[in-house]
Amino acid sequence: MHACVLHAARDLRIETRDLPPSAPHEVRLRVRAGGICGSDLHYFFHGRVGDFVIREPLVPGHEFAGEVAEVGAAVQRLAPGMRVCVNPSRNCGACPRCREGRPNLCERVFFMGSASKFPHMHGGFAEFTTVAEGQCFPVSADLPFAEMAMAEPLSVALHAAHRAGNLMGQKVLVTGAGPIGQLVMLAARRGGAAHLAITDMIDPPLAAARAMGADASFNVAEGTGALQEAAAAIGGYDVVFEASGANAALNAGLLAVRAGGIVVQVGSLPGGETPVMANRIMAREIDLRGAFRFGEVFADAVTCLERRLIDIRPLLTAKFPMAQASAAFDAARDRATNLKVVIEF
Ligand SMILES: [Zn+2]
Ligand SMILES: [Zn+2]
Repeated sequence: MHACVLHAARDLRIETRDLPPSAPHEVRLRVRAGGICGSDLHYFFHGRVGDFVIREPLVPGHEFAGEVAEVGAAVQRLAPGMRVCVNPSRNCGACPRCREGRPNLCERVFFMGSASKFPHMHGGFAEFTTVAEGQCFPVSADLPFAEMAMAEPLSVALHAAHRAGNLMGQKVLVTGAGPIGQLVMLAARRGGAAHLAITDMIDPPLAAARAMGADASFNVAEGTGALQEAAAAIGGYDVVFEASGANAALNAGLLAVRAGGIVVQVGSLPGGETPVMANRIMAREIDLRGAFRFGEVFADAVTCLERRLIDIRPLLTAKFPMAQASAAFDAARDRATNLKVVIEF
């Protein structure tokens, strides 16, 4: 089979590899589509994501979907030919965090396409991969594979929305209009948010957000004056989702949220210490909460896609064949043109 293999920054090769072995509880998956995530871009352009450094050749990709090709002897509910969304996360199920229902905080979690552990756990950017039965979520409808591959980032967004609690009737601000910011906005709307505002440093993703239902958008490249004026006019946002990974956006959110409001940090801020307006958190009793990957929402994300309860199609802006994987990464970095770029295998 062929696989995309990242050897170092900007060194992505299409290589011929043996089919991955599979255990009795696993299935061999014929991968059909994989979305490029911000973390994949970091691996591709820098060879690392924060503290996770590529130390051996890595098959990237954690947003993917495909067809079951073969099933192991102990597999019970899957059969060859079934179309499945894949949860790229394998948690232990036994540690304290797993047992309290927070598998994304598992002490022994493995995440496909990530260099967080050594040896690395390969991802889905290959013609075939091996996944556990429990990672597979069958889709019955005739949903395109590119849409199915959005189950993972949509899970991130649904989880972030859950972290904020009940959004019914709330005024919500999302900082950062990349794919995760856009999906968080859509998840917040589904959760009942009454007013949705979104920020970015460039106009095209803001136009896309308005087309998908944003009530207000702010280009903050020249400063956050207009945003803070709008926030003051409505008495502050009830909930802010920080989805840009920029320190300045976190502080802008802390200024824009109302007293007693909630700020959810979804984006990965630069490593090291982050200057935060901590006295504002104290004096206005702001709840600052983290949202990391996702917990038990993957099945909900699949349902949302299958029934188009959340229509993510406007996010899918480009598709590339596997042979042009490097070009796909370049396209995905071009935020003025693309939101989500998908590779077809
Ligand atoms: Zn991702
Ligand atoms: Zn665990």
